[in-house]
Amino acid sequence: MSRSAHPAGPRHADVLPEGHYSAPPADLNSLDPKVWSRTVTRDDLGVVTVGGIDVKTLAEQHGTPAYVLDEADFRDRARAWRTAFGTDADVFYAGKAFLSRAVVRWLHEEGLNLDVCSGGELATALSAGMPADRIAFHGNNKSSEEIERAVRAGVGRIVLDSFQEIVRVAHIAQSLGRRQRVQIRVTVGVEAHTHEFIATAHEDQKFGIPLAGGQAAEAVRRALRLDGLELIGIHSHIGSQIFDMSGFEVAAHRVVGLLKDIRDEHGVELPEIDLGGGLGIAYTSDDDPREPHEIAKALTEIVTRECESARLRTPRISVEPGRAIVGPTAFTLYEVGTVKPLDGLRTYVSVDGGMSDNIRTALYDAEYSVALVSRVSDAAPMLARVVGKHCESGDIVVKDAFLPSDLAPGDLIAVPATGAYCRSMASNYNHVLRPPVVAVREGEARVIVRRETEEDLLRLDVG
Ligand SMILES: *Cc1c(COP(=O)(O)O)cnc(C)c1O
Repeated sequence: MSRSAHPAGPRHADVLPEGHYSAPPADLNSLDPKVWSRTVTRDDLGVVTVGGIDVKTLAEQHGTPAYVLDEADFRDRARAWRTAFGTDADVFYAGKAFLSRAVVRWLHEEGLNLDVCSGGELATALSAGMPADRIAFHGNNKSSEEIERAVRAGVGRIVLDSFQEIVRVAHIAQSLGRRQRVQIRVTVGVEAHTHEFIATAHEDQKFGIPLAGGQAAEAVRRALRLDGLELIGIHSHIGSQIFDMSGFEVAAHRVVGLLKDIRDEHGVELPEIDLGGGLGIAYTSDDDPREPHEIAKALTEIVTRECESARLRTPRISVEPGRAIVGPTAFTLYEVGTVKPLDGLRTYVSVDGGMSDNIRTALYDAEYSVALVSRVSDAAPMLARVVGKHCESGDIVVKDAFLPSDLAPGDLIAVPATGAYCRSMASNYNHVLRPPVVAVREGEARVIVRRETEEDLLRLDVG
């Protein structure tokens, strides 16, 4: 069908240009529970509510754009991970996905531990009362100052990422009269993203110490020799947004192989193994993530089996989900500003935020869903691209999605599954002010991270 056959433009779904989308959903007003947080529903007037509060009220009271976080859902997911892994394993929430003091308190209350990877994340965790021994400190280039703060605070573990760091942490711990519990992060030659994983001999990346060529074994040798360190285990993190467990299988096989070599060489059975995070969530209806209990069962079985065949005691397992806990629990609420149909292509829907509050689409070509949330509509579906207000043509929030063709300025739309890596990666590009995070629960809304103000911007600009 040629474009010129539709002089009125793509107001309806009968013109479908190239893009990454499936057919329009049967009902644009329905909200797929896979991609929306658990308390999301529509009220009698067709307005979307979350945590018992409707989005029009949220927009009036807190403005747009805003990240709206469903506290009950967050706690449910955190608890589900905790319960699934039981008391013989530890769940470390990866703070980089989204960290605030309220979140730290919820995690503490739900019995989770916490991964941090900078002084700022450590400060946030400690200031909200997370016990230091439940914190793991990560990063490929921790500064000496950060290491010293972590050791002084008494963090439960520091995950060592390089040969220099082994010596650095040992030296700092010793000079403080401490023996720091550490893990060594290894790269197992597996890279996993979504539905595939690649097993390679070499790891061409900045994180970890390669198993290949005996480097990890040499790191273990050095760490075991240093008085300032107590080596408690091996750490592996293979990727992100993973649905297929086979990458973890290869990783566990290789890590257990190292544990066996360590036992044979040093007569030491390291008591812990950390398999990292990276478990996927549903951004669109096409994604089918696994439940925490399925993941726990699969990972525990893999490690147990590998250890049995290596004749090792099964070590204590830890995992580090970030996205899988917080990702599905928030949506970004936007107000529609302009609606621009492009003949034969699609309709550009501009919102009052953009790449400054969600860089993932521009950075990773990520896919998102979107819905009209301030009302229902019977209008035909139109193929839309949700874009931001920034001076950049790559400023896209949702590449291809269907919205009702009567969409108009002033409508509220929401992009679900923005709880992870959106606020935490937000920027001030174009001096746009970073949105607040509003936590909702049982009819109450509470700002847990406030909206940035122009005073905030100007305070940093000291002229
Ligand atoms: C990023 C990261 C995680 C969390 O990844 P998710 O995809 O959010 O689950 C866990 N562990 C380490 C070491 C990481 O770098």
